[in-house]
Amino acid sequence: MSLPLPEPAEIDRAVQAAHKTMLATEGGRNADYIPFLASVPSELAGAAVVTRDGAVHEAGDSRYAFAIESISKVATLALVLETIGADAVREKIGTSPTGLPFNSVMALELHDDKPLSPLVNAGAIATASLVPGASADARWAAILDMQSRLCGRELALSDEVNRSEQTTNFHNRAIAWLLYSAGTCYSDPMEALDIYTRQCSTLLTAVDLATMGATLASGGVNPVTGARVVSAENVPHILAEMMMEGLYTSSGEFAYTVGLPGKSGVGGGVLAVAPGRLALAGFAPPLDPAGNSVRGLQAVSAIAKGLRLNIFEA
Ligand code: GLN
Repeated sequence: MSLPLPEPAEIDRAVQAAHKTMLATEGGRNADYIPFLASVPSELAGAAVVTRDGAVHEAGDSRYAFAIESISKVATLALVLETIGADAVREKIGTSPTGLPFNSVMALELHDDKPLSPLVNAGAIATASLVPGASADARWAAILDMQSRLCGRELALSDEVNRSEQTTNFHNRAIAWLLYSAGTCYSDPMEALDIYTRQCSTLLTAVDLATMGATLASGGVNPVTGARVVSAENVPHILAEMMMEGLYTSSGEFAYTVGLPGKSGVGGGVLAVAPGRLALAGFAPPLDPAGNSVRGLQAVSAIAKGLRLNIFEA
């Protein structure tokens, strides 16, 4: 059964209204542990929806290119599911929420050094270590290619973001070595970290982000390019992970109030997917204490409620 799509005019209204609310809201702070992110103008605010038909609805700074950060974890998970399979991902990384912040070391200590989720830093570094390839550059190229195919556009690394991250990622280095010592990093740990850090440093827009989500909403086929990017059987695994851990310690709250799989990044992007229908994205740099964009979350929640997208509503 195909779920009904809201009328285009209704989607437009919801996106415009969400953007208006974003403009009227304050609060949060840009991430500053990555110096580049502190320098992005805090007042930027964009929202976008891409439907399963490939229709784009957008408002505000929806074409401003920002750092993908943690949302990259979705693409690398997709790549690894496609290459080594869902059972291997479950066995080597795990599939459950940690209940702790995205860069938690305690989460590893509490779970026998198993990352549990591919969508926290430890699990994402382990996921990057599982990307097949003859060299670090070949593995990085495969990740960038997956990001690009999900978004339907050639994405590129920002040297500026990458430099800012590579020279300050000491906490993530510690996580990579902890994983390695426990046998849960499956390549050289500094190489896995290098790839993970690069994957966080590509630039994309709210429209790209919504297209990435629309690819997942459409069972793995990018509705803009028409290309199959992820096999249909892997999409539910990705969406389940997003539902449980996509917004870190706010994931439960988001499931309870919005009822959609989501993913955020400390660059200010927030993505949510209404399976079978569409995806919605918000972008605004200031973050709440959990690391989620205050206004990005607000935009996504408002659009989801306006269009009645909660997947738990019959
Ligand atoms: N590059 C960031 C980090 O590793 C990504 C974190 C995030 O967006 N939550 O800390």
